Amino acid sequence: MQIYKVGGAVRDRLLGRAVSDIDWLVVGATVEQMQAQGYRPVGADFPVFIHPKSGEEYALARTERKSGRGYGGFVFHASPEVTLEQDLIRRDLTINAMAEDEHGNLCDPYHGKVDLDKRILRHVSPAFAEDPLRVLRVARFAARYAPLGFTVAADTLELMRQISASGELQALTAERSWKEIERALMEDQPQVFIQVLRACDALKQLMPELDALFAAPLSEGEHTLAALQQAALHGQPLHVRWACLTQALGQAIKAVNQRFKAPRECQELALLVGEMQGHCQRAPELDAPTLLELLQKFDVYRRPQRLEDFIAACEMVARGRQALEGDGYPQGDYLRGAAAAAKAVDVKSLVDKGLTGQALGEALKTERLNALQAYTQAN
Ligand code: ATP
Ligand code: MG
Repeated sequence: MQIYKVGGAVRDRLLGRAVSDIDWLVVGATVEQMQAQGYRPVGADFPVFIHPKSGEEYALARTERKSGRGYGGFVFHASPEVTLEQDLIRRDLTINAMAEDEHGNLCDPYHGKVDLDKRILRHVSPAFAEDPLRVLRVARFAARYAPLGFTVAADTLELMRQISASGELQALTAERSWKEIERALMEDQPQVFIQVLRACDALKQLMPELDALFAAPLSEGEHTLAALQQAALHGQPLHVRWACLTQALGQAIKAVNQRFKAPRECQELALLVGEMQGHCQRAPELDAPTLLELLQKFDVYRRPQRLEDFIAACEMVARGRQALEGDGYPQGDYLRGAAAAAKAVDVKSLVDKGLTGQALGEALKTERLNALQAYTQAN
């Protein structure tokens, strides 16, 4: 059997980037031989094994053929006869279809190195169209390597357009799509992910609500991309970036959250930002009852971080609109001050007065309102 390093590890080493995980390809071996050498099978369906010591993934060379809609409709064929070239041709991009043998020699039958040097994301073969997830993957790689000057080859973009037009993107599971979206959002240029999806008409299929925002020049769509870019520039976490992406979708935020089964933290912040960002942008104009309602809604007494995430997302939106100068975000500071004023109300003294249950709740509310009244007058 021969063992090759494949995929991202080969690509990123040639690009001089840090290699996070290494994928290995085994040619000329049977499942039985692998197990006899101590490799542990990963699942029943895939011919993938875990190395007994390093814990890295070793896959048997395989071919695959589409047999129906969606990812379930794939037939894998792994056997010792499958060659390196046959395995590499089923991969998405030429820069992902290179292998390195044990002596460090590059095996590159589909000219990935040329494309790497030319900074081009190009599909390996027409079989690219068999898995619609590749549209999202290419958009994600475009986002990741945009700072290096990579662009999508014209004929690859055309193929992606055909996939979008076929309606096959609708067959993707929420889980597979979300994994790509999540990774794309965490790249340095996440807005490029959306731009590429839009360029091949996939955005219309995946998030028609967002696509519609690009209808007008200088549109909400452009503001959304700018907010997302700011979120990346400021190193914001995933849920803040997701909230930036969805902030202008209004009533549709819920549907988009659910369509991709976004994690709870992402869903929750997206809804709060969508509903309340107007309050944040004009925080200094809010009266005490409105401020109190906002703080209650955030449950800021028990979940202070949620208000911080909300403020962060609103700041990124404001920056995207170029509504801020310099480093600060006075609206956010104003909300923080209001939260501090409401939190400063001494619950213990009310309890010591013998108040309990509903009476305590009401007294607390009145005291907090008074504190916020004083705060709005003083600031
Ligand atoms: P990353 O740095 O994001 O992990 P990667 O290239 O290693 O990049 P993986 O998702 O780990 O990406 O996949 C490993 C390799 O498997 C890819 O380089 C590619 O050759 C192939 N691959 C993975 N998913 C697909 C797919 N849906 N279609 C075609 N080839 C794929
Ligand atoms: Mg990888």
